Formats: sequence, C-alpha cells, structure tokens
Amino acid sequence: MSEKIAVVTGASRGIGRAIACRLAREGIRVIINYHGSKEQAEQVQSQIREAGGQAEIYQCNVADVASCEAFVSDVLKNWGRIDILVNNAGITRDGLLMRMCEEAFDQVLDTNLKGTFHMIRFASRQMLKQRYGRIVNMASVVGIAGNAGQANYAASKAGVIGLTKAAAKELASRNITVNAVAPGFIETDMTAVLSEKARDVAAAQIPMGHFGTADQVAEAVAFLASDAASYITGQVLQVDGGMVM
Ligand code: NAP
Repeated sequence: MSEKIAVVTGASRGIGRAIACRLAREGIRVIINYHGSKEQAEQVQSQIREAGGQAEIYQCNVADVASCEAFVSDVLKNWGRIDILVNNAGITRDGLLMRMCEEAFDQVLDTNLKGTFHMIRFASRQMLKQRYGRIVNMASVVGIAGNAGQANYAASKAGVIGLTKAAAKELASRNITVNAVAPGFIETDMTAVLSEKARDVAAAQIPMGHFGTADQVAEAVAFLASDAASYITGQVLQVDGGMVM
C-alpha cells in the first residue's frame, strides 16, 4: 500500500489516532485531522514520524460543510490524491429522549452523520477521477441495536450505515469501496466518562467480558482500507467482542 494518501478524521485521539498510526505502518502518508486538540494531533504526528512514517496535520470541523470543502481542497493541492478516507470523527451528547434538546440531537447528527456525508461527497469526486478509493466509515453497534440514553447517537450511526450502503452502490463501478466498522465498547476518552457501575453493566453484555482497544478497531479499518478487501463493499464489520449478534 505504499505511495498512498489516507485522510483520517478525528485522528488526534482514541480510535482515530490508532487508525492513523496503523495505516502509517503500511507506508501510507496519513493526513491527521483534528478539530480542537492541536497538541494531541502534533503528538500523533511525532509518534508516526519517529517510527519512520509520514504524517501531516490539518484542522477541520467535519460538522461544517465549508470547512470540509476547504480541507479536501487543501489536501489535494498539497498531495494530489486521496486513496483512503476514514470517517472516524464522532461525538456523543447522551440523555434520555424525553429530556433531549433539539440542539443535542442536531450537534450529534451534524458531526457523526453529516460530517461523514460532507467528506464522502468532496473526497469521492477525486476518487472517481482516480478510479480508485477506499472509504471506511465509523459506525457503532448502537446504530444496529439502539441504546437507551443515546437516541441522537443511535440515529446518527444508523444513518452512517445507510449512507455507507447507498454510497457503496453508487461508487462500486469506479473501483471505490465503501464499508463501515461498528465497534462495541472501546477504551477511549468517549467511554472514560462512564461510571464504574455503567462499565460493569456494559461488560456484562459482552461475551468476551471486557471492553476492546482502539488498536483492535484499527486492525479492522486497515483491512477494509487495504487491497486485501478489494471485493468487499457495503458491509458493516462489527468489532465488539460478540456484543451484538
Ligand atoms: P474520542 O476519543 O472522543 O475522539 C473523538 C475524535 O473525534 C477526536 O479526535 C476529536 O477531535 C474528533 N472530533 C470530534 N468532533 C469533531 C469535528 N466536529 N470535526 C473533526 N473532528 C472531530 O472518540 P473515540 O472513542 O475514539 O471514537 C471515534 C469514533 O468511533 C467515533 O465516531 C465514535 O462514535 C466511534 N465509536 C466509539 C466507540 C467507543 O466505545 N469508544 C464505540 C463505537 C463507535 P478533537 O479532539 O481534535 O476535537
């Protein structure tokens, strides 16, 4: 997979960081996107460069269409192509449906679902010209099974799965695959906010009995982004220790 350019959104922390480091190990030049965590993005870049890889940093708010358009345009101006797009950036704003304000719903949909839509729309124009592309979208098992207290998040991730399948059908004839990875509970900042009790309840639902790691999710993404997965499109690969089946 050498000489390739991969854009990873939300790569300053957590799963996105692990994906950036994993793809860089393949000799791919990784574009690390961050929104607010500049210092952490710089740390990811240093880690990749110290290991002999290639990485660049770009700020972009995926919830903002103009920001996404400028981001993709800057990457193309500087690097000429986008072979791999990983739409990983995501947020939660949990709360029971009855008490969830419209703003919390919109914010999660704008980042998780519309952000993925904007990035696919702009990057796929270039992939169509290249007649090559690998798009991997970060869904969640919550988008498949639902979860109390996460109506906005579940809707956004179910939307990501539908978007993945529609894009896969539209882009398949041009050698562009579009797949989703659906993690279960993974150890990152996103799940660090859970109480001890909530963690125990969550772990009890997982046949493997424990949370997964960002590196384990990154392996699934690296596979779908590789030429080993060239005949796989429109699929959702769960990385969840058997939680939802
Ligand atoms: P995390 O540790 O909270 O990191 C979130 C990342 O997304 C950060 O790099 C953040 O960037 C970025 N981000 C947030 N809003 C953004 C925006 N508007 N524009 C650009 N980047 C933005 O989360 P994580 O656990 O690694 O989750 C990564 C993805 O996996 C998300 O899509 C999440 O829904 C999904 N997922 C996670 C789990 C889990 O258990 N952790 C399970 C299933 C699915 P800055 O810090 O620079 O703002």
